[in-house]
Amino acid sequence: MNLILLGPPGAGKGTQAERIAATRGLKQLSTGEMLRAAVKAGTEIGRRADAVMKSGGLVSDEIVIGIIDERIDQPDCANGFILDGFPRTLAQASALDKLLKQKGKTLDAVIEIRVDDSALVERISGRFSCAKCGAGYHDLHKMPKVAGTCDQCGSTEFSRRADDNAETVKNRLMAYYRETAPLIGYYYALGYLQSVDGMAPIDEVTVQLNKALGA
Ligand code: ADP
Ligand code: ADP
Ligand code: ZN
Repeated sequence: MNLILLGPPGAGKGTQAERIAATRGLKQLSTGEMLRAAVKAGTEIGRRADAVMKSGGLVSDEIVIGIIDERIDQPDCANGFILDGFPRTLAQASALDKLLKQKGKTLDAVIEIRVDDSALVERISGRFSCAKCGAGYHDLHKMPKVAGTCDQCGSTEFSRRADDNAETVKNRLMAYYRETAPLIGYYYALGYLQSVDGMAPIDEVTVQLNKALGA
């Protein structure tokens, strides 16, 4: 099963993708994570993406389409993948259609996680993650069960994203409404779109997603 999670920054795409991937044996593909890894490693792509990401803009279609093109051919995607943060523009969406056709793969569902704008800034500013395994947390909504210790791997080191600040968030929201929100109409028209209420608690959103995806 191959699916797309759509939604504004902070909607909960990464949180839910991690859960659905684990229970269904799918590979979570986050272009944001891949780009952050490229920046950290100092690759050519990382150098090109760094400043754009810091400002909250979108990295070029050419770069992210290239990343996805290569990534979905890997053996760990054979059982299916969850795209979290891709596509983000209409050009990326039509490139994805073409890539899937070329590779003989199908798209099974596109699920929009709906969240009120007023909640997004709070979600983003409270977000942090385990520095070792990447597990996601929130200052108010999802603290580690044992204070200061990662639930998943026991690490005591956590990190916050450089772009999770109030100034950049505004630009990221603008980019979402200008470039990504049209994809909701695009996938609706193609008959793929389903929506879940992303304002519900994390576990409840997972239940809704599983309902949408079926057994
Ligand atoms: P996205 O990948 O869409 O940018 P994340 O999954 O990183 O969003 O979630 C953003 C922040 O909000 C994280 O700190 C996460 O723990 C928290 N969060 C995610 N889903 C919910 C929810 N349903 N209710 C409250 N907080 C949530
Ligand atoms: P969030 O879900 O909080 O918006 P991501 O981790 O998905 O964050 O993305 C972080 C940044 O990486 C984006 O603000 C953008 O600069 C870049 N990025 C990630 N995915 C894409 C994409 N598909 N197209 C263009 N830029 C992207
Ligand atoms: Zn961890």
